Formats: sequence, structure tokens, C-alpha cells
Amino acid sequence: MNPLEELKNYIKYLETIGITHIPASKELLRFLKTESTFEKDSIEGLKNKLKECQACALYRVRKQPIWGEGDLNAKLMLISEYPNKEEDFYNKPFTGEIEKLLVRMLAAIGLKKQDFFITHAVKCKTPGNRPPEPEEILACKPFLLKQIKLLKPKLILAMGFTPPKVFFEKKLSFSSIRGKVFKVKDIPILFTYHPAYVIKNPATKRLVWEDLQKFKHLYNKLFTSS
Ligand code: SF4
Repeated sequence: MNPLEELKNYIKYLETIGITHIPASKELLRFLKTESTFEKDSIEGLKNKLKECQACALYRVRKQPIWGEGDLNAKLMLISEYPNKEEDFYNKPFTGEIEKLLVRMLAAIGLKKQDFFITHAVKCKTPGNRPPEPEEILACKPFLLKQIKLLKPKLILAMGFTPPKVFFEKKLSFSSIRGKVFKVKDIPILFTYHPAYVIKNPATKRLVWEDLQKFKHLYNKLFTSS
């Protein structure tokens, strides 16, 4: 039994013997609440859980948590950062100019948005579009990990500075992981800049182009027979 399962069972045991209050920090209690209610291993169960999630303070500023967009059977997953105001309004990742640039970036390597299931590393918008705090990333992490577990993509493209914070416990500089291939649950994942960052920093275009070439190389290796 993994330690999390063991912890969940222990909490249930405490409840059955009448202990309903566990002294712990607010963040830990929220995390345990989120984790311990992922009873059903189903996409619908997870979606429902997400809709009502209040595991971190971001629930107060969002219009809605965003599940994602695209074919649940897609072989490719794209992980974005966290919803901006417009995405929160339209309940989808990538809108407006940022979406247009993403479409062009993917087209440059012969792919389409529709080839991916697209989701965010953190599912709710933040106040003033600030980056999520570490405790918010930690609270939301189970949703992304569970999506990966249930959707079983074969290859993941992660865009922006937030996704690495979900997958690496150590603080690493983005430049040290960008364009390299890592594994998440045995699935290859490649990190690159987010299109919103590229719009503000056109000098990163060349680096993103190199990263996308690597992604396409991985794609070809996995899906096209030699
Ligand atoms: Fe829940 Fe994630 Fe939204 Fe926080 S950001 S309230 S953990 S869905």
C-alpha cells in the first residue's frame, strides 16, 4: 500500500473511532480533503470533484475551475500554466492571440490543437494573473496527476513555468529543464515556453522552435513506423 493510501485509511479509522478533528495546517487539511475524496477512479468522478474543489484559496477568485479541452483519448497531452481571466470566462485553455500563436506553433511541426487533450497545471485563475503560490500548486497537483493517470497520454508537451513546479520537488531553473525530455509516470514530457511568454519575449521564438522540433522527433519515434 502506498503511503497516501495508508494515510487515507488511517484518517478513516480515526473517524470511525470518533476522532473528527485532526490538528494540522490549513494547507495540509485541504490537501487531505482533496486526496481522500478521489475515491472513484473515473474521469466523471474526477470532473465532479474538480467542479466543487475548494482545496486552495483560488476557489474564491475563479469563475470556475477548468477541466481542459479536447479528445479524452488523444495520444498527446498539452499542459499549460493556469487560467487567465479570459480562459476563466470561456472555460477553456488558450484563447485570443495566445491561442492563435499556439495553433501556428503546432502547425509548424505538422500538428493541430485537436491532436491534444489540453489542460492547465493549476485549474483556477489567480488574482491579477499572478503565478500560483507553492501551496496552491501542491493543492491542485492531484488533479493533474489523476488526469494523466486516467487519460494515459503517450507524450506530453508542457508549456510555461508552472508545469515544472508540479513535477519537480527541487526548485530548478527553467533554462536547465527546457527542451529536455523527462518522464512522468513513464510518459515522455518536454518543457518549453508558453505562447503568452513568447508574445512578450519574441527572442524566445528560436528556442521554442528548437524545442518543438525535439517534440516532433519524439512524436515521430513513437507514432510513425520506420
Ligand atoms: Fe482546487 Fe486547484 Fe482550484 Fe485550488 S486551484 S481550488 S486546488 S481546483
